[in-house]
Amino acid sequence: MNLDLVSNVLADEPPYRLQQIWEWTAGGASSYGEMTNLPARTRALLEERVPFSTLELVHEAHAKDGTVKALFHTHDGHPIEAVLMRYRDGRRSVCISSQSGCPLTCTFCATGRMRFRRNLDAWEILDQALHFRRVEPIDHVVFMGMGEPMLNVDAVLAAARRLPDMGVTPRRTTISTVGWLPGLKRFVDEVDEPIRLALSLHAPADALRSELMPVNDRYPLEDVIAECRRYVELRRRKVFVEYVMLAGVNDGPEHARALAVLLDRKVFKVNLIPYNPTGMYDGSPRDAIAAFKAVLDNAHLPATVRLTRGRDIAAACGQLAATA
Ligand code: SF4
Repeated sequence: MNLDLVSNVLADEPPYRLQQIWEWTAGGASSYGEMTNLPARTRALLEERVPFSTLELVHEAHAKDGTVKALFHTHDGHPIEAVLMRYRDGRRSVCISSQSGCPLTCTFCATGRMRFRRNLDAWEILDQALHFRRVEPIDHVVFMGMGEPMLNVDAVLAAARRLPDMGVTPRRTTISTVGWLPGLKRFVDEVDEPIRLALSLHAPADALRSELMPVNDRYPLEDVIAECRRYVELRRRKVFVEYVMLAGVNDGPEHARALAVLLDRKVFKVNLIPYNPTGMYDGSPRDAIAAFKAVLDNAHLPATVRLTRGRDIAAACGQLAATA
């Protein structure tokens, strides 16, 4: 819901109306009709003038493990996807997009092969989470869907700052970046809330990283790692490193050893991500992931292996490409 538009349409109403409308919306209301503390004429005016969501749901796919992937179109026809992940321990995590397509062309990522359309505004970002909030309460949000959040940092932060109204605290909000330094620097300097920062690393050295992620030519590892250190010094919070496991590419013991040297265990925690095939690479087999993790364990670098969700509906990491 575009609250700026609501505010324009209700310019003659008392200022608390906006708060009432947002409380209903963030609490999971599905229509203006449910907002019973609003006068009937106000609800009618909103129904006529302000679409309840900025997004149109085009398709929804349901995986065997409870994961749901939604394909939306923006009002000007650009596709985006968001994913609800349901975990056995009761967690409900939503992965949302910050851009339609992505200009950064990481070779392992289906989104990077789509045409880049545009940045999303804060309401379009929030409407992805609200779509699932209307189905059930959610408690985690990760900005790891389509797009590089630090290329759209104002809208991403504006959206992240409204998530607590939906029941998602800053500590349960994660913003991911490939290391786009202008945005990352702003995040480090400006974000006081304990929002988690995740760095998509995927390689322990520049040559390999540049092959996988062309953005590394512009912002090489040393500079990105230095900015992460600055974050930890300033904010006293660790950085979560995302490392997608590509068979025969970045998953050897030599890569693990290099990673353990590169990453200070006081600064970083590593999350190893089993890869979901998108055509160009194969995912590392389980024993290769276990051997890689063992090297990190020996070096006392904290590491976990991510639970994969929604693989059968192309909703897992690296698979979002807006194909219904
Ligand atoms: S991994 Fe992220 S930054 Fe890279 S192409 Fe995909 S969406 Fe863009």
